[in-house]
Amino acid sequence: MIECGVCAYWVAFGPTTGKCHRHSPRPGTQVDDTSYWLETLNDDGCAEGVPREEGKEVMVRCRDCAFWRRRKGDQGLFPKRRGDLPLSWWREAGFCARFAPDPGSTTEIVVWRATHANDRCGDGEPKQKTE
Ligand code: SF4
Repeated sequence: MIECGVCAYWVAFGPTTGKCHRHSPRPGTQVDDTSYWLETLNDDGCAEGVPREEGKEVMVRCRDCAFWRRRKGDQGLFPKRRGDLPLSWWREAGFCARFAPDPGSTTEIVVWRATHANDRCGDGEPKQKTE
């Protein structure tokens, strides 16, 4: 187990605060669902972290990821309800299809959650590796 402050998946935005980008968003069931990586403190930690190494990147940007999908080519997404995000964000958004939906106990329709082209995570795979 290592602390977030030294983890390769941690994206700092303050001296003691950052966001854990170890995993990609799981599919949801809400229309226009988006993705927020959750905040942790530098002295939090878990068993899935790996130590940050100079010059070694463990995350993939969504725009470079084999699991990132845009239904209308490069036009981005067209939300029904854009929520708290501006249309400029949606124009640079796509769906993260890293995981299949988990079986549920209802008949809801699955929605792959939107991420921004500049988002990144540790579950991604570069396009050239799988295509
Ligand atoms: S990098 Fe790939 S797997 Fe990770 S959030 Fe983006 S699209 Fe999903």
